[in-house]
Amino acid sequence: MHVVIAGGGVVGLATAWRALTAGLRVTVVDPAEPGRASHVSGGMLPPLTEQVHEEGPLRGLYLASRDRYPSFVAELEEDAGRDAGHRRDGVLDAAFTGADLAVLERLRALQESLGIRTEALTAADCRAYEPRLAPSVRGGLLAPDDGAIDPRRMTAALTAAIERRGGTLIADAVTEVVAGGRATGVRLRSGGTVSGDRVVLATGSWTRRIGGLPPGAVPEIRPVKGQIVRLRSAEPFLARTTRAVVDGRALYLIPRLDGELAVGATYEDVGDDMTVTAGGVRDLLARAAAVLPDVTSLEFAEAGVGMRPGAPDDLPVLGETIVPGLLLCTGHFRIGVQLTPATADAMVHALTTGALPDVAKPFTPHRFA
Ligand SMILES: Cc1cc2nc3c(=O)[nH]c(=O)nc-3n(C[C@H](O)[C@H](O)[C@H](O)COP(=O)(O)OP(=O)(O)OC[C@H]3O[C@@H](n4cnc5c(N)ncnc54)[C@H](O)[C@@H]3O)c2cc1C
Repeated sequence: MHVVIAGGGVVGLATAWRALTAGLRVTVVDPAEPGRASHVSGGMLPPLTEQVHEEGPLRGLYLASRDRYPSFVAELEEDAGRDAGHRRDGVLDAAFTGADLAVLERLRALQESLGIRTEALTAADCRAYEPRLAPSVRGGLLAPDDGAIDPRRMTAALTAAIERRGGTLIADAVTEVVAGGRATGVRLRSGGTVSGDRVVLATGSWTRRIGGLPPGAVPEIRPVKGQIVRLRSAEPFLARTTRAVVDGRALYLIPRLDGELAVGATYEDVGDDMTVTAGGVRDLLARAAAVLPDVTSLEFAEAGVGMRPGAPDDLPVLGETIVPGLLLCTGHFRIGVQLTPATADAMVHALTTGALPDVAKPFTPHRFA
């Protein structure tokens, strides 16, 4: 079976790599659009996120992906022959108000009920783990088995693994799916056609631009803008990924071993606008300085913007559409990096058996029919 995948962000590339390991032939087409989410993503892998605090189908997929991450990365690094930038040295949630402490206490109970190792921290513990935290920290929570991945290293490792497994990567854009009753390939912006037995659209926020599809085949995937800042120091500024609520909004500080510190992210429902704004950068830096007062001494390395792909119900959209042979792999919204291993496994299951595994069944595109 030859699978043509439009879109080489984290979920498209991971699906391609897992499909190759399952013995399928794969071609990935991607024009490296500015604003692609995976290129700027923070890559934080916390034990839980807000989206899965309520019990529901997303929590199952999220926890399946969390469980799968270590083996997924080990296999990837083996196949790629390079590091994927994965760290499991803990995620620290810092509380600065009584209300934050109450939220963390509920989170601790929830995480423990799900079997996630969690330690309650005093203010002194927080500062012992992360001496650069503001002295106003009141307490915290540590999830020692969780962490982050560097999405750029992960993407580079996936690309290397795909090449080593004999997959084809084409730097071009898909303009339309060739579908006369059944999807049989894609047309490229440069003029050619790539034929295949299955077509997967992993085109994130650009999915609505793909032509050739009957009405109702693909739900509207809207872009949700996120700005993120990258700072740099000679030595890592923090020992582990740290989260806090500042001005009522979550702030993430994600250190990399090479001295980068990602500070994210804004959340802006503003359509296709991809401007990096002074206000967005100021907001992130001001809130980072409230948590880590010395952060302003770091080198300013980059301010980036990415478009999170959001489905009408903000949930992933996975598996076969009403067009036979056409599958979707999108809608990962704010947690696509976290969901990547379980997504790739589910997509390969769908490609090889014709059905989604139970954990991914709620995400079928047919729910919008
Ligand atoms: C600022 C920011 C911070 C984030 N932080 C986190 C985090 O800490 N943890 C987490 O889990 N998630 C995070 N996310 C969300 C996560 O990055 C996304 O959910 C995920 O990257 C989506 O991956 P994707 O492959 O679907 O989309 P994308 O990465 O956007 O990939 C879509 C791809 O489609 C390609 N494409 C576009 N048009 C075409 C075409 N016509 N033909 C072929 N290809 C095309 C693009 O070039 C692109 O490579 C963050 C997102 C942002 C923006």
